[in-house]
Amino acid sequence: MKSCLALFSGERSRLSSAPRRRPALTLAWLGALVCTLLACAAQAAPTCYRYGGAWENNIPNKLYLYFPTAADASFPNYPQSCGTPVSPAQPFNVSDLDSGIGTTGQLRNGVFDVVTDAYCEFNVQVRQSTANPDAFFIPDPRRNVVAVGSDSGGCFGVAQNYSNQIDLGDTHPADHARVWGGSYPTGCGAATEGALEGGNSTLTRWANAIGSTSAHEAGHNYGLQHGDDSFIHTGEDNRFHHIMPSATLPGESAPVPDCTFRASPRHFSDTTFSILAHNIGLVSQTMGNWDFVNPNAGSATQLRMEVLSTAASLTLTYWWNGVWSPWSAPSVSGVIGTTTFQGTVYNRFHVTWNAGKAWEARNNPGTAQTPGLVPSGATFHIGAEFNGSHYYDPDPYIIREVVLLNGGTTLPLQPRMAGYDNGSLDMSSGDFIMRFFSFDSPLILKDLTIHELPRKITLDSMQFGMEMKTWDGQPVIPWRTTKLGDFSVTKDGIRIPVRNLFQEGHNVFIVHGRDNPKDASQGGAEENPDTPGSISVDLFPSTTVYVTATVIDPSVHYKDPKTGEDKVAESLLFYQFAGKRERRPLTGQVKGLIRLKVACTDLTTRQSLAADMSENLWDCTSAGLSASVGDSINVIVKGVFNGEQNAAGELPLQGTVEGMKVQKVVCTNLTTRASANANLDEAGNWNCQVDKFSVKAGDSINVIAKGVIN
Ligand SMILES: [Zn+2]
Repeated sequence: MKSCLALFSGERSRLSSAPRRRPALTLAWLGALVCTLLACAAQAAPTCYRYGGAWENNIPNKLYLYFPTAADASFPNYPQSCGTPVSPAQPFNVSDLDSGIGTTGQLRNGVFDVVTDAYCEFNVQVRQSTANPDAFFIPDPRRNVVAVGSDSGGCFGVAQNYSNQIDLGDTHPADHARVWGGSYPTGCGAATEGALEGGNSTLTRWANAIGSTSAHEAGHNYGLQHGDDSFIHTGEDNRFHHIMPSATLPGESAPVPDCTFRASPRHFSDTTFSILAHNIGLVSQTMGNWDFVNPNAGSATQLRMEVLSTAASLTLTYWWNGVWSPWSAPSVSGVIGTTTFQGTVYNRFHVTWNAGKAWEARNNPGTAQTPGLVPSGATFHIGAEFNGSHYYDPDPYIIREVVLLNGGTTLPLQPRMAGYDNGSLDMSSGDFIMRFFSFDSPLILKDLTIHELPRKITLDSMQFGMEMKTWDGQPVIPWRTTKLGDFSVTKDGIRIPVRNLFQEGHNVFIVHGRDNPKDASQGGAEENPDTPGSISVDLFPSTTVYVTATVIDPSVHYKDPKTGEDKVAESLLFYQFAGKRERRPLTGQVKGLIRLKVACTDLTTRQSLAADMSENLWDCTSAGLSASVGDSINVIVKGVFNGEQNAAGELPLQGTVEGMKVQKVVCTNLTTRASANANLDEAGNWNCQVDKFSVKAGDSINVIAKGVIN
């Protein structure tokens, strides 16, 4: 299953001059392409359950572990507080640390595994490279480059510095960090002397120490700060097991965590996980588990589910492979047609389970069943996890029907499942609303319960009697659990308001520059200073929403195989989906141009669209832009200068942008090829009337405004 996508075999020497870059880079890319599956599997082995699919190359966020083989002075020398310059980035050699633990390649892979596992659930692809990723022929636009050397410095590592602040809100698409592997173990301090020495000097412990520091610095570049980990949410483990808590609290001495913890596996806390999910997105957005019964007198050999989605394709990232399932991995069709439901056109997909495997019926545990064959009255369990084409604004998925077949023949009775969506956030009312439907006769939703979770739980956890756990076994305590009760669901459907953003706010809402934050579920106060980058929030209503219910079809009866009693068909629903980002409005106006066209690009989400126009007013929000706090935006204005003068005899070519902090506006006269920075004020008013930039009637004009949503 695992393919070679995360190793960039590098050049032996650093690429020091520009003319030599291109051929060397071509080699770096080729190196990635020719790396064989076998060689790759032998080199890196993260335990992250979703690692290795070719689809991961489509993930926009790239986290590069850059292990130089020679000093690299081209690495940006941003200011730091460690007393050691971050550039040149120095080479990484295991012999500088302890040559007895393995080869340099083995330690590189160990560090790669640790960082890949730390970011397993996020919309991030971790890669390793011995060439500088900034110098690639086509550098990744959203890249987080962590240069890892085996030299020592005044810190274990340091993230990129923006006016003495880290990249709060992740407003910078490309940033850098430096890790000094040689700072271990001397920087560990007397208290944990020996954590990486003697018998404790092992490849695994060194990989944990250097890998978790690399994940930490990369975390800063995605908007995390130390104070985010100064407390723990109810039920969490010791904060020293977390990746970000380097702020020393009263009574503690540096380093925090100490090196005993650093040499052991660490993971993101509930709070930092939630902020990352908002800033960079989750990699899986829709996860379903279902218990069904075969209500027919005859056996079933396959189950086919029809899924409606606005996405162009459906990618299966994971499936449930436990003992109660008669089948192994389901197959997913392409688009088999479209259907309009409640005013929206959806693509139709079939997800089919029919490859038999050993299993037991839930209502007859301990007895092996025929692989792939579900007898009359037997209950079974299946599950699947899908990844969307939009990581930040997940495509809706609606389960329309579940059909049991024997061979190619549809059976007369079907286990019913309610249709449901993955919620939507109405930014005018602040309501987060889930919808449930019946596509046939009315259904009863019994014991509908909604859990708002700080982090994603596994498919395995999504069953009755199972503890909620992360993929790496951490217990998950919900922010909140709400028992909503029983509902009757018809074709018209029901709308269930789960939470209101304006009244109830976020579970994680951190105002920077204040005291250490508190657990919001324990009553932390909220306020919104509306300054870009000054707050960190989670998704709404939470990182993921986990829904459980019993779905009853009063019209379908079957005979219990054991007792012979007449029963009403019940299915169990276990459903988890990613929360939503708040949509912020982005609008503006332009004066002086005719044939005006405006386009907005959200560089964070990579969503790009043409604005709705009304005279000289433009609106990217009404056109469908789903931008959230902290997103980096480009607004591109094109048109032909009308040459009209105002009363003062000036030629106005100006405009405004509302909804973002405008950082820079560049005016270009495409006719004369002249270009200049516009005058810009605090309110986002821009004006192209500046020195050495002239326009006359009929000239083609291009204006680009860059900024951050606030
Ligand atoms: Zn730090």
